[in-house]
This record gives sequence, C-alpha cells and structure tokens, in this order.
Amino acid sequence: MRLRKVQGAEEKISESPFCIKDPAEKKGQWKDVFKNKAPIHLEIGMGKGKFLLEKAMSLPKINFLGLELHESVLVRGVEKQEEAELDNLLFLRENAECIEEFFEPGEIGHIYLNFSDPWPKDRHKKRRLTGGVFLARYDRLLPAGGIVEFKTDNKDLFDFSLEEAENSPFRVDTVSYDLHSDPVLSQGNIMTEYEERFSAKGNPICYLRLVKGE
Ligand code: SAH
Repeated sequence: MRLRKVQGAEEKISESPFCIKDPAEKKGQWKDVFKNKAPIHLEIGMGKGKFLLEKAMSLPKINFLGLELHESVLVRGVEKQEEAELDNLLFLRENAECIEEFFEPGEIGHIYLNFSDPWPKDRHKKRRLTGGVFLARYDRLLPAGGIVEFKTDNKDLFDFSLEEAENSPFRVDTVSYDLHSDPVLSQGNIMTEYEERFSAKGNPICYLRLVKGE
C-alpha cells in the first residue's frame, strides 16, 4: 500500500489523550485505563477508524481499542475521536506482531480484522494478519468464547484465511462469500472505509467468524 505522508500526524498522535503511548505498561490494567470493567474489543489495522467510531457510538457499554501501524491513516481516526470524545475508544500506534506484549490472556474479548493487507507474495505470507502465526496469538489472548471477525473483498486472502482457521484452535462459526446479500449477517453491519469503496465497485464482501472453544 502506498501512503501519503500527512503533515503533523506524528505530533498529533503523540499529543492526543486518545492514543496510548506505552501500551506494554498497561498490560493487565486496561480496565483501569478505561475506568470501568466493560468488555474490551480490538480492531487490528483500523485505518482511518470509521468502523470503530461507529461501533463505539452504537455500543457504549463496550470499550474499543484500535491498533494501527501507520500514522498517516491513524491520525484521521484521532481527529474524528477528538471531535466525538467518546469515553469508550482509544488508539494504539503499534504493530500487531507485538499484541502479546500489550494484553494479558483474557483481557480482550473480541478481535476485528477488516480488509487486512493481502500480502499476495508467498514470501510475505507470514505478515498476513489471518495466518496461522497470528491466529495462534489471538488464541492465546482471547478467553473461551472469544471471537475473531474478518471481512475482506479479496477472495484469495479469504480462502487462505479460511484454510488457516480450519487448521487453527478456533472453531469456524460463520462463513459468507457475500455478506451484504445475507439478510441475517448484514443486519447491523457497520461498513469500514475499504468496505464502502470496494462494495461500491460491485465486489462481494467475504465474512468469517471464528470462536475460541472451551
Ligand atoms: N480496516 C480499515 C483499513 C484496511 S487497510 C478498513 O477496512 O477500511 C489495512 C490496514 O491495516 C492499514 O491501515 C495498515 O496500515 C494496517 N496494518 C497492516 N499491518 C499491520 C500491522 N502489522 N499492525 C497494525 N496495523 C497494520
């Protein structure tokens, strides 16, 4: 992905009260950070944050964390949250590879992966956020009953992810190759930026829901 550098993004992120600077120091203490005991949901690769802002607005009794590697997109989410000032939404400018440094097992109840980078080359397979190495990380973090939800319009990435999930400790709970046409699954679906863009082009959206067993 090509990213345009956004002037002042680094400064804005480092100054924002909605961005947690040293997440490893908060490991095991996220309830104190949010100042309540509500469940915590994490979006990995949140981009500009549309999905999370809307989720956090519609579910005030859930705390949301957004993790994003790139400042140039994260800053857009930060700007929206500085307007909205939601109590239940915070961001981390971090790499998903480090999530086990940030959370104790059981601290995060739900993980969202929306339009994750496909990394189509075989030699970059390990970077895919739905690959076996990442699924094993999510499995160690989530409690029994914990959920991973994944949306993409990239069929190759979806097929790869489904295969990885079938060979993982997770139970494959729901699979759809056309989320928006499914009357049940599409109910209450919040569209991400990429989802709006790609579904407007006519691409069907694939959806996968994994559940961690007892
Ligand atoms: N979820 C958004 C953005 C999708 S693009 C949407 O659906 O609109 C994928 C995003 O994941 C990019 O912003 C990219 O910077 C981020 N990303 C990719 N690998 C990451 C990693 N290892 N850790 C954190 N974020 C990552």
